[in-house]
Amino acid sequence: MATPKHYVVEHLDVELEGWSKLEYLTIATETRPRSESVANSNKPTFHLTSLPRELFENLPEELKAHDNLDATMEEVNKLEGLKAEEVCLLDPRAEKDMCPEDGEVFKWFVFGGILGDDPPRDRTAELRKYGFTGRRLGPVQMTTDTAVRVTRLVVEDKIPLDKVPFVDFPELKVSKNETTEMPFRYVKREDGTPVMPEGMVELIKEDSNKGFLDMM
Ligand code: SAM
Repeated sequence: MATPKHYVVEHLDVELEGWSKLEYLTIATETRPRSESVANSNKPTFHLTSLPRELFENLPEELKAHDNLDATMEEVNKLEGLKAEEVCLLDPRAEKDMCPEDGEVFKWFVFGGILGDDPPRDRTAELRKYGFTGRRLGPVQMTTDTAVRVTRLVVEDKIPLDKVPFVDFPELKVSKNETTEMPFRYVKREDGTPVMPEGMVELIKEDSNKGFLDMM
């Protein structure tokens, strides 16, 4: 039986923005255990940690519906069964890039539950206090769901990072005459478009019409 990997998102924002909710739903769907025997063991593979009480008690039903999700107010280092030497922090400032062999060493992968900012403010720094080994996914900032997707491609599917197809800073059409540039790296689909959570393009369009994207 394959040992399932654990993907941990330490939630660092006070609330759950619409963008983060869509990202977390996507992560929950994509990290569902692949093998049936693991699925039947009912073990969580996606952990949302450090949730503020208010959010923990009012977690959206769509998220709660995912059996593989473990939501907690505890910090990542308190997770049951976690051994520090098996944990990798996905850190844009780490010295080493993630490689397929890391999948043999690490069982737990920790990400910052933060919306990206432009320029990046290095909020991942808040997670370095735990002392976990850091790995980078290349020099360009990704959204949290992209970072989880790319980690899985490298450590589970054994695709070297430089063989993962990426699209950087894609332009999205937000209205008839306007486009907006997303300041992130995404996995590229065969048709050249970025992989994004379901509903994200619509949300970006709404936010951009409200002027929200100018604040990023
Ligand atoms: N600007 C952000 C910051 O302040 O650190 C980047 C946050 S990014 C939207 C959310 C999370 O995805 C990060 O905390 C990190 O865990 C992961 N991540 C994103 N891009 C990454 C990269 N190039 N290398 C490693 N991890 C990355």
